[in-house]
Amino acid sequence: MDALPILRTGHPRTEHGFIRPIDGVEIPFALIEGEKPGPCLLVTAGVHASEYCSIEAALRLMKRSPAGLAGTILVLPILNMSGFGRRSIYVMPQDGRNLNRMFPGKPDGSVSERLADWLVTKVYPQADAYLDLHGGDLSEALQPFTLFPRDSEESKALAIAFGLPVAVSAGGEGYTINAAGRLGVPSIIAEVGGNGIWDEASVDELTAGIDRVLHHLGMADRSGYPPPEATPRIVTMWVPAATADGLWYPLRQLGDTVTAGDVLGEIRDVFGTVLEAVKARDDGVLLYKLSSLAVNRGEALLGTGTPLG
Ligand SMILES: [Zn+2]
Repeated sequence: MDALPILRTGHPRTEHGFIRPIDGVEIPFALIEGEKPGPCLLVTAGVHASEYCSIEAALRLMKRSPAGLAGTILVLPILNMSGFGRRSIYVMPQDGRNLNRMFPGKPDGSVSERLADWLVTKVYPQADAYLDLHGGDLSEALQPFTLFPRDSEESKALAIAFGLPVAVSAGGEGYTINAAGRLGVPSIIAEVGGNGIWDEASVDELTAGIDRVLHHLGMADRSGYPPPEATPRIVTMWVPAATADGLWYPLRQLGDTVTAGDVLGEIRDVFGTVLEAVKARDDGVLLYKLSSLAVNRGEALLGTGTPLG
């Protein structure tokens, strides 16, 4: 099948299988049309193929019953399928590019650019809301947070509904949620888990967030999941990139409160010489960090969240 099936037929149904969105790429999908009419929620995962909690949460969502559902859920659980089999970090193996930097893509570009273009032209316009599930990659550890495009109040409301403790008001270009947000689709990224580990508690945290969003959109009741403990803290995030190749020594723990000027970590050479000392730009909290000893120039080292307002 080269194209997605139609999302709304007026009859409750579940469909799943594989589609070929572009030449040489095949990805799984599931579509659940509910008993009642309602919005279409798009859920993607596996943009980064080794962020396993998000992939497992999306696979479980595929098994959801049409009973009690209003509207349609479209799940694309592993967008980077070749990367999944190879346990890739960050990139699509076909072109070595990070799909989540390629949006809005190009119809005649490399594989990741064409896949981004397919999502932007064929999939996002059909969605009324969009959840792109992520986590720390094989080489990253993080505390759960969501990201929303900073100029979209509807996306911010979606992030608050998802209910993770921190929501990041994000700028930048090239991301899934920027491209979807530009089309007027409320969109968030949810980040849970990391380091190639998947566990029931983290998958449950994502599943609970999806359920709260279904409730927020009027698509389902929230039965079985408690409301979030508190309204998320809204922050901006600062993400310094490595300026040298070497070995990475983070000096602070996830969740630590940091003060501008604090040394958060060092890049050293194999003899222990400090090549770069990374100092906090702002006061805030450490939300994620590169956990691998090896580091390459240009890679994100950590993220600190600074409360807005
Ligand atoms: Zn990711």
